[in-house]
Amino acid sequence: MDAIRTRFAPSPTGFLHIGGARTALYNWAYTRRLGGRFVLRVEDTDRERSTAESEAAVLGGLEWLGIDWDEGPFRQSERGDLYAAAIERLLAGDRAYRCVCTPAEIEERRQATVATGAKWIYDGRCAGANHGPGCGPHAVRLRVPRDGKLGFDDLVFGPSGQDAREIGDMVIRRTDGSPLYHLAVVVDDIAMGITHLIRGADHLNNTPFQLALYAALDAAPPLFAHVPLIVGANGKKLSKRRDPVSVQHFRAAGYLPEAMCNWLVRIGWSHGDQEIFSRDEMCSLFDLAEVQRAAGQADPGKLDWLNQHYIKELPRDRLVRELLPFLAEAGTPLGPSAGLEAVADLLRERSKTLAEMAQRAHFFAVADAALRYDADAVRKHWKAAVVPAVKDLTGELSRAGAWDVAAIEAAFEAVRARYEGLALGKLAQPVRVAVTGSAASPGIFETLALLGRERSVARLTRALAELPAA
Ligand code: GLU
Repeated sequence: MDAIRTRFAPSPTGFLHIGGARTALYNWAYTRRLGGRFVLRVEDTDRERSTAESEAAVLGGLEWLGIDWDEGPFRQSERGDLYAAAIERLLAGDRAYRCVCTPAEIEERRQATVATGAKWIYDGRCAGANHGPGCGPHAVRLRVPRDGKLGFDDLVFGPSGQDAREIGDMVIRRTDGSPLYHLAVVVDDIAMGITHLIRGADHLNNTPFQLALYAALDAAPPLFAHVPLIVGANGKKLSKRRDPVSVQHFRAAGYLPEAMCNWLVRIGWSHGDQEIFSRDEMCSLFDLAEVQRAAGQADPGKLDWLNQHYIKELPRDRLVRELLPFLAEAGTPLGPSAGLEAVADLLRERSKTLAEMAQRAHFFAVADAALRYDADAVRKHWKAAVVPAVKDLTGELSRAGAWDVAAIEAAFEAVRARYEGLALGKLAQPVRVAVTGSAASPGIFETLALLGRERSVARLTRALAELPAA
C-alpha cells in the first residue's frame, strides 16, 4: 500500500481549541504509526475572521505540543486559482451550473416550502436554464444526484451518509466569485492526495455533499474518520466562555506538553486500560479502530494527575528550564543554578503544575528581607509559648557542626528534649512560617538544608524580631 497521507486543516479564527488539538494529535499519531505524511493546511478563506495572530497561535500551539507536520503550512488564501480552475472545469463538464436566483427570491421560496412542513433544499430552478457566463450576477451550484445515497463507511462511526435527494444543488461559488468551504476543502484534499481524512464529528454532515464533489471532480474520495467531540466532565458541551478550552490556557497554567498530549489522546480513545502514553507509544499504538463514538469527556482532575506524573519524571535540566518562565511570571526571576535544581527536585513530588511549583519555589527565590508572611499561618503557628524554643533552635542551628538533613534533625531533637519533648510539628510549623512565610512546604529539614545555614538563620532571626506572637 502507498504511504498514507493525512491533514489537519485549522481555520485561523481564534486560538487552538483542545478539540482541534486532539484532531491534530490523532492525525499525527496515526500517520506516524503508518509511516505516512502529515500535511498542515490553514483554511483562511474567511478573510474577515482569519488573522495572522490566530494562525501564529494555532501553529505555535501545535509546535508546543510536539505535533510536527511534513508538508505545509499551505494557505487556502494562496490557492484561489486552483479553486477557480476546478469550478470552471465543473461548469465546462456540466457538473455544475450558473444560478441567477437572488437571495430574496430564494428566501421567498424557502419560506413557502417550510410553511408546508417540508424541508427546503434548492429547488433546481436554474438547473436546466443553461445560463452562460454573461448571465449577470450569479452563483455556481453543483449538480447533486437526485437519487441514490451519498454514503461512506466511516472508520469511527461505521456506515454513514445521506440520501442524495435530501441535499440539493448547493452553491460552490458565491456571487462575488469566492469559492465555498466545501469546494476548497475537496479540491485541496484531492490535490494533496489525502488518503485518510480525520476530522471532528461536527463535519459528519458535510461529508455527503463533499462526496458528490469528489464524484463530480472524477476523484476517488479518501477514507473518512470523524472523531467525537469533547465535552466537559459533566457531559455538557464545552463553552468557549466558561471552560478552559484553548491549548494556550493550559500552557500558561503550567501543564507540560507531554501531559496535554497524553490527556488529549485518551479523550475518546483507549488502549486496554493503559493511562500513560509516551509520544513513542502514541505513535506505535494509536488506532482509529479504538476511537469511541460517544463524546469524550475532558476531566481536569485527570490532567492534573498526568501533569504531576510527568513533572515527577522530567529530567532535572528540562524541569528547571520549564520552571524558569513561571518563576519570572510569579515575580521571582531566578537564573538556573544548582540551588534551583535542588528546589525543583524537592518540589516536583508535590506540584500539580509548573505555576504551582513556581509559587512554592518563591520562598527560595525571594531575598530573605523581602519574604512575606502569610497572616493566617502566623496567627496559627507563631505562638508565644513556642517562641523561646524557636529562639533556642536558631542558636542550635547556627552552631551545628554540619549543614545537612541529619545535623538539622539533631538540632531539632536537642531543642525538643529541652522543652519537655515538644512535638516535632509544634516546633516545625513556626520554623516553617519563619523560613518560607507559609504553613506548607516540603519537609522542614529538607527545606532548611536547601536554604542553607546563613539564609535559614537570617530568616529565623528576622521572624523572631518582627513577628507578633499570639
Ligand atoms: N477548517 C475546518 C475547521 O476548522 C476543517 C475542515 C475539515 O477538516 O474538513 O473546522
